[in-house]
Amino acid sequence: MARAAGFAPPTAGLPLLGRDLFPDRNAGLETDLTAFLGAPSVQIECSGTAAFIVALRTLADRAPDRDEVVVPAYTCPLVAQAVAACGLKLKLADLGPDSLDMAPQALDGLCGARTLAVVPTHLGGRVSDIRPALAAAHRVGAWVIEDAAQALGARLGAASVGLLGDIGFYSLAVGKGLSIYEGGVLTARDAPLRRALQDTSRRLIPDSRTMEARRIAELIGYALLYRPGALRWSYGAPLRQALARGDWSAAAGDDFPDRIPLHRPGRWRKKVGAMALKRLPEFLAAAEAQASSRLETLAQISGVDVVRDSAPGARGVWPILMLRLPDQATRDAVLAQGWDKGLGLSPPFLRALPDYRRYASVVPACAPDALPNARSWAGRLLAISNSSWLGDAEFARVCEMLRRAI
Ligand SMILES: *Cc1c(COP(=O)(O)O)cnc(C)c1O
Repeated sequence: MARAAGFAPPTAGLPLLGRDLFPDRNAGLETDLTAFLGAPSVQIECSGTAAFIVALRTLADRAPDRDEVVVPAYTCPLVAQAVAACGLKLKLADLGPDSLDMAPQALDGLCGARTLAVVPTHLGGRVSDIRPALAAAHRVGAWVIEDAAQALGARLGAASVGLLGDIGFYSLAVGKGLSIYEGGVLTARDAPLRRALQDTSRRLIPDSRTMEARRIAELIGYALLYRPGALRWSYGAPLRQALARGDWSAAAGDDFPDRIPLHRPGRWRKKVGAMALKRLPEFLAAAEAQASSRLETLAQISGVDVVRDSAPGARGVWPILMLRLPDQATRDAVLAQGWDKGLGLSPPFLRALPDYRRYASVVPACAPDALPNARSWAGRLLAISNSSWLGDAEFARVCEMLRRAI
């Protein structure tokens, strides 16, 4: 039974315990994640974005005549920034009308001799069916990089997501399940490609004591402040300020700095991650149980479409519950009413990539009637935090708010 709440965080992140900060000397994040994922090996980078950059640079070295990267038009803006930081061209694929996956027809139209990589994405822990992306990419000689930033622990049959494409990456940022404040995990199926990813990382990523000192302080702050009482201030206060300014993009956490930090994550933070990882399977199972019961309730509200895994046989993870509402006016009305109340409501991302003014320099402009599905999803999606700190009474309030708004 979910405990009564303070202020729910926007996603269900695995809380750190005090003892995680005093890790066993032989704790090893690489070894433990390799076993957890069933991967041949993993490589830890300073963020999911950094892992993606290492992947893109590695592939660009192998295929210098290819410079286009196909991504969903509705995804994390960091993906667009990473493509630009590598000097590559972004190609936006529309989503399906009823799926957050890139539409197969869109993929076929965008892939060609210049395509370097296609990036299917497991948004919000929902498992994407990556077969169309694999087919479209491999037909033209391009690679598939699975963006599993929000899906560490999600499975398809016996295999972890992220291991089905040529390369996969996960995020260890705050709010994405397992966190070392900022971190990323990189995997690849093929041994020569794994070696190439490590070479790229050694060449590209510098040590930085100042960045690591800052991340250590931030991780300790996170361990102290990621709890129901403190979240009212640590998350709620900046949220309320952004909403009071009418700045929904900042409130959604969509305003990333222009420069992407690249440095080596330190040993202590990785050991802290290894300590927390021991609790992740149990944490994910509890989140799954809560999600399945709450989704059942939500599915009964008329006008609410519950977003489920698109891949058959998948077992995703549940940092958030995603709903599609009938139209943007309804979605925005629910946010206007409930976003600042600590009820775990937020838009996963506020806009489709071309509709952020902030990212105009890294996203190609497009016609107002282009990418209709991505734009429709961006306007209608609502996330409810699946944190256990959103108690049953608060969840009931959210359901009531939805019923009245629709
Ligand atoms: C967060 C996120 C990333 C980037 O991960 P970071 O660790 O924050 O750099 C990439 N893709 C998606 C879909 C994400 O949600």
